[in-house]
Amino acid sequence: MPDGPLTYADLAGFPLDAITALRTKPKKIAALGSLGVHNVLDLLSYYPRRHIDRSRQLAIRDLVPGDEAMVVGKVVHSSQIRTRTGKNLVKVDITDGRGYLEVSFFNQPFRHRQLSVGTEAVFFGKVDSFNGKRQMNSPVVDLVGNQTGRVISLYPQSEKLKLKSEEIAEWVKVALDKTLARTIAEPLDEDLRRRLGLEDRQAALWRYHAPDAWADIEVARRRLVFDELLRVQLALVLRKRQLERTARGIVHDTSGRLVHRFHEALGFPLTSAQEQAIATIVADLGGPHPMHRLLQGDVGSGKTVVAVSALLTAVQGGHQGALMAPTEVLAEQHFLGIRELLAGLTVAGDPDEGSLFEGAAAERPLRVELLTNRTTAAGRRRLAEALLDGSVDLLIGTHALIEDAVAFRSLGVIVIDEQHRFGVEQRAALRAKGADGATPDVLVMTATPIPRTAAMTVYGDLDVSVLDELPPGRTPIETRWVQTVAGEEDPEAEAPVWAHVRSEVAAGRQAYVVCPLVEESEKLEARSAEETFERLQLDNLAGLHLGLLHGRMAGADKEAVMHAFRSGQLDVLVATTVIEVGVDVPNATVMVILDADRFGLAQLHQLRGRVGRGAAESSCWLVGAGNTSDGEARLEAMVRTTDGFELAEVDLELRGEGTLMDTRQKGRNDLRLASLRRDKTWVERAREVAFELVDADPDLSGHPALRDEIALFLGDDEADNLLKS
Ligand code: ADP
Ligand code: MG
Repeated sequence: MPDGPLTYADLAGFPLDAITALRTKPKKIAALGSLGVHNVLDLLSYYPRRHIDRSRQLAIRDLVPGDEAMVVGKVVHSSQIRTRTGKNLVKVDITDGRGYLEVSFFNQPFRHRQLSVGTEAVFFGKVDSFNGKRQMNSPVVDLVGNQTGRVISLYPQSEKLKLKSEEIAEWVKVALDKTLARTIAEPLDEDLRRRLGLEDRQAALWRYHAPDAWADIEVARRRLVFDELLRVQLALVLRKRQLERTARGIVHDTSGRLVHRFHEALGFPLTSAQEQAIATIVADLGGPHPMHRLLQGDVGSGKTVVAVSALLTAVQGGHQGALMAPTEVLAEQHFLGIRELLAGLTVAGDPDEGSLFEGAAAERPLRVELLTNRTTAAGRRRLAEALLDGSVDLLIGTHALIEDAVAFRSLGVIVIDEQHRFGVEQRAALRAKGADGATPDVLVMTATPIPRTAAMTVYGDLDVSVLDELPPGRTPIETRWVQTVAGEEDPEAEAPVWAHVRSEVAAGRQAYVVCPLVEESEKLEARSAEETFERLQLDNLAGLHLGLLHGRMAGADKEAVMHAFRSGQLDVLVATTVIEVGVDVPNATVMVILDADRFGLAQLHQLRGRVGRGAAESSCWLVGAGNTSDGEARLEAMVRTTDGFELAEVDLELRGEGTLMDTRQKGRNDLRLASLRRDKTWVERAREVAFELVDADPDLSGHPALRDEIALFLGDDEADNLLKS
């Protein structure tokens, strides 16, 4: 047994029954296991949910109505009744030995069980006065049991698993005591810690779990947060550097012959943000390393032109380009749009075939093709041939593109649109389609604005370009929220919405109506869209030309409806969220979203982005109850701003980062304490430090402790792959 300081790997090697207090409690060990706590390291990383400062606790008899206060008391009486209005009311009386306080909870029936007579708990809330008696209404409650000390750590506990905060605190304390003899190893160099103002790991663990003073907590938390963020950043930076080091890229022809012709044929000058992004991308493409870049840009910022410029850079050197979209509608939309953008462009034909002059390259039209699940078998066969002989220059499609049967002659650039729906594996599968072991360049586009620090964490292995400027001449979209009563039709409230749609249509404009979201079932959603369509056609929008679009329609029907709307034969398109991304009809000036509070903020923003694409003034009507606090916050944010980045911040605020990380890190949520909102500056510092460390020591052989820790958190396979010299 080595007896140096304990590393995290050492701690992970100790089973829970190394803790004497747990040895005879297999049920508790099993309960911890179901929370993901399997060893001593897990236990020490099972952090308090929050802390309570007992020095701020007040005596009940000193409470003053109107104050926010914390009291600790024992339940002496508990009752549960149903009020006249049908609410469940739990009332408990508590005492701290010298005073009594009445505490009530509406519609929280579990409180009756939780706060049985004799239970001791901390109550935090506002003091009211009712009939001359002081009381608290629905305070925050924490069961502290007999934890003592000035500061109490409250662990996430589980009634179902019969795990109490006080027990967990006790086991953690025993575990910490056990580390005293050997101490806990410090993986960071002393001067790095000093530079960042971080205390050592041993102190941080002790002070976060068992603080002596309130001020200890924040200092300790900072260190533990940094460790989490550094691990994530090291993994990302290692991945990025490794790809740069080992993958052989294609050195593209950056003469711009084809790209310039494309730009000249556009009816507008590029925005400077587009120019900047294109220049950066072209520089990447001309280099020996494969590009791996994220293009972020709000709806309508003109990402397509940038993406097509990248694809054409491949074509101009005789390679092919591929664009992958998340849905059929979007793939078709891109296909039609891009084919139109590129109409009239020609490329050098194959000198060996079809040329009258031996060796001379005849010009032929640039060829763009579409591949989706709807492409027929015969169509696929023809396409497969044309891809292999190089006569198709650009292939646009859905994930059908990554199927094994699809092979290119020389795939040079891949654009992936709307990344948030694709996984890392799918990106890797596409990259693997390069010929002769050369890795194609990858551009990932997302219209979901991601706050900077979140992008650093979720897309930290990519370089990032941002289109932070909209093309000129856009008029801002006026957004209004029509508040309705949940679950009820409210024709009166909706009346101005339909009147507005009618007047816009009368003025030659078009409108979208997005139907309520039915998350569980595409079938139910389609039915609800059909109902809305019928209702509007019979009633509010009678006499207008309405079209219906939903995900269950056959592809040809979808295309026909989109075509009719695009060409102006339809006034109003009643649709599900299939129109969320990519749909581009500049003449549409009204967006109506029904039951808007059921949509996520990113989705609302995308939907709204379908209007305001021309010079005419556009508006967005959000119809919904907004009767949940999140729902209300989302709708209010939408009314307040059209800035996607601001909305993304709000979204992060409302949802936390769990959902962001999940898409990428599949259940291995490494951030337990760190918050991408709260710890923004630490995300950036961790990233800088990760670059410093990896660039000075690419396989971290000079930092064995960090190296082991990465291996521990990533798993051996991935770590072996990333850390091999
Ligand atoms: P995004 O995909 O970023 O939402 P698009 O690429 O679909 O945006 O572009 C939105 C609209 O703006 C399209 O109609 C496009 O033709 C137009 N557009 C793009 N770039 C410019 C520009 N520089 N000037 C004017 N219009 C532009
Ligand atoms: Mg687009």
